[in-house]
Amino acid sequence: MTIDLRSDTVTKPTKGMLDAMMTAKVGDDVYKEDPTVNALEQRLAHMFGKEQALFFPTGSMANQAALKLHTNPGEQVICDKYAHIYNYEGGGASFNSGISCKLIDGDRGMFTANQVIESINPPDFYHSPLTTLVEVENTTNKGGGACWDFEELKRIKAVCKKHDLGYHLDGARLWNALANTNETAKDYGQLFDTISVCLSKGLGCPIGSVLIGDKELMQGALRIRKILGGGMRQVGYLAAAGLYALDNHVDRLVDDHLKAKEIGDVLEDLSIIKKVEPIETNIVIFELESHVDESEFLAQLASQDIHIIGMGSNKLRMVTHLDYTNTMHERLLEILNNF
Ligand SMILES: *Cc1c(COP(=O)(O)O)cnc(C)c1O
Repeated sequence: MTIDLRSDTVTKPTKGMLDAMMTAKVGDDVYKEDPTVNALEQRLAHMFGKEQALFFPTGSMANQAALKLHTNPGEQVICDKYAHIYNYEGGGASFNSGISCKLIDGDRGMFTANQVIESINPPDFYHSPLTTLVEVENTTNKGGGACWDFEELKRIKAVCKKHDLGYHLDGARLWNALANTNETAKDYGQLFDTISVCLSKGLGCPIGSVLIGDKELMQGALRIRKILGGGMRQVGYLAAAGLYALDNHVDRLVDDHLKAKEIGDVLEDLSIIKKVEPIETNIVIFELESHVDESEFLAQLASQDIHIIGMGSNKLRMVTHLDYTNTMHERLLEILNNF
């Protein structure tokens, strides 16, 4: 039995999802004539209380389009040093938008409104890049699936308003945050100018992300998506997977969170492990004792067909997901307990 906890992107479509995909009504989405894509976009726009939504092949492309919508070349976005847009999108911020990132030294990928204030370049000081955007990630990926305090997000919104900055949310795993906290999608819609959400992580779709925002800002999104090469044709087959996932795979996320916590509890007790980061959702990040060789540890797990990934600096990551079954969970806990 292969146990793959490298990421929540390793899931394969379920039978129900495949059926939904096979029977989808489709059209040419570049002409906006795909009824299933249109239905998915409308549903998500409505869910977040925004005017528009646009389907993208990847979360990176949705984020990159958002950066482009909010900025002009030479400007600067404020984000955490752990941010996906900075670390894991191939340098796209500079490549696609010609902008730089001002990194905040945050806590598990999260920062405070005061740190944002300190990071804004004075707009009349023309020697430094003009700050025009603040980007946050919820849940934080490199930060171990941590969920933001909504009150802090509100305080940051007030700073954005005062300084006329755009406010973008990388909500690749916002579904996990929503499952864990009291806020609703509409609460997030009210706060942020643009939100990207992934359908291919916790929700188990083979592909797909959506960028959500109001009409005025989203006007250029269709053109930017085309420029980035993301204009797709009969893509309703994929949007159908998204609609199916929204109906069937949202409520079960708490199950992934519970499993992650149980894994963390076992790891806490292992002498070879120095520290387990707080576990709030489906991501478990832990650090090995310095005398333990990371590659040896990984190889030992791999020899039992258990696969996880290194995050650098002796830290490792496990992510629970839709295809990680109860049987796999029992086996993993047993193997870890015997380590
Ligand atoms: C996965 C992820 C994305 C998007 O990744 P793609 O692989 O391009 O879909 C964006 N932000 C965060 C925080 C992610 O974890």
